[in-house]
Amino acid sequence: MERPPSVDQLARSLAPTGLPHPLTVEVAREAIRTDRVAEADAMARSRIRRMLVPVINATGVLLHTNLGRAPLAYSGVADYSNLELDLATGTRGSRQAAVGELLATACGAEAAMVVNNCASAVLLALAAIGTDNGVAVSRGELVEIGGAFRVPDVMAQSGARLVEVGTTNRTRLADYRQAVSVHDVATVLKVHQSNYRIVGFVEETTVAALATLEVDVLADIGSGLLDAACPWLDGPPPRWLDGEPAARQTLEAGADLIMFSGDKLFGGPQAGIIAGRQDLVAACSRHPLARALRPGGLVLAALQDTALAYLRRDGLAIPFWRMATTPIEELLARAGAIAGCVPAVAVVDTEAVPGGGTLPTVSIPSAGVRLEGDRTAELRDGDRPIVARVEDGATILDLRTVAEGDDAELIDALRGLDRP
Ligand SMILES: *Cc1c(COP(=O)(O)O)cnc(C)c1O
Repeated sequence: MERPPSVDQLARSLAPTGLPHPLTVEVAREAIRTDRVAEADAMARSRIRRMLVPVINATGVLLHTNLGRAPLAYSGVADYSNLELDLATGTRGSRQAAVGELLATACGAEAAMVVNNCASAVLLALAAIGTDNGVAVSRGELVEIGGAFRVPDVMAQSGARLVEVGTTNRTRLADYRQAVSVHDVATVLKVHQSNYRIVGFVEETTVAALATLEVDVLADIGSGLLDAACPWLDGPPPRWLDGEPAARQTLEAGADLIMFSGDKLFGGPQAGIIAGRQDLVAACSRHPLARALRPGGLVLAALQDTALAYLRRDGLAIPFWRMATTPIEELLARAGAIAGCVPAVAVVDTEAVPGGGTLPTVSIPSAGVRLEGDRTAELRDGDRPIVARVEDGATILDLRTVAEGDDAELIDALRGLDRP
């Protein structure tokens, strides 16, 4: 019987994979331990495939939870930044100040600040504002968003006392009013039913109605649509946005504080934005949790770019909005061009979706290409993986979520499938 190679020998033979030495050693050890020396090279490759790489999203799901939600247009350089330096005075500044001001202007709030994600934003707002008295939440809004964000659990972690009001399908202003008088409630939390809908015999209380009560109204609007009028788009707001709560209008309706995600309909990096009344934002930023939940400079820089694009009314500079609003004719033309280059594929009409736990009942007309059989594993196997979907035994590549500049790469990959 042949003796197995030494770990060192095997690790060295894996060097051409490009993995750093400590990782080739780990792979070599594992291969020898499990008697899979012949597969060591494949094991090293699968190790590489677990790392973060840019992928082409051909799923038609604009905010794909597994693909990092909104695509991000940001490339920084290896520089210091004035993250916490006030350049005017040369003294220590706030990392929140600049981006907070831009975001506040963009959504029409007195003040705004940034934390890690919307879950953090809700946690911090409740901890900073909701712990002295009870916080009322409608029984129809005790939601679970993917990834185990559950409103009652977040509430418990924040230290706030949950006072459930109303019923699953109907919650009236009188229910909230009773909570205020009977259960010592001083805060109402309204939570957007982002990823589900209740239809039929339903009634919910609007932010405008809640604002008539003597309480602080907090609204977790979730997806971060900045303004229902979408002034950053050339045309009118897309129909599929109907009914989605927007930051500006929620504040105008009387919310004292809103919370939303940075990487859903806002189209920026993963972040949570808290915006509204100056004193409430200040209370959030003073709370000890604010430090634990604060974002890094990379996120703030990317968020600043996104906020500036909104303020310039330049929706095309925000990849999510560019993709979401590409005219169907353009997508069909691109699909035709791809089909012209790759005989095995055909142009198809498709339906893209916003995704990311937003707008669960909505689809956006789209176009793409179709090829026979399930070829998704092969498409994922390239240097730049392509993520597609399977429908009725065929592979569908939806172009709404593919940047136009990536079509050439798509064509190469599709041609490659037919080569032996
Ligand atoms: C998505 C969502 C959250 C969680 O947002 P993250 O940024 O993923 O933490 C919370 N509340 C609502 C209503 C949401 O839609």
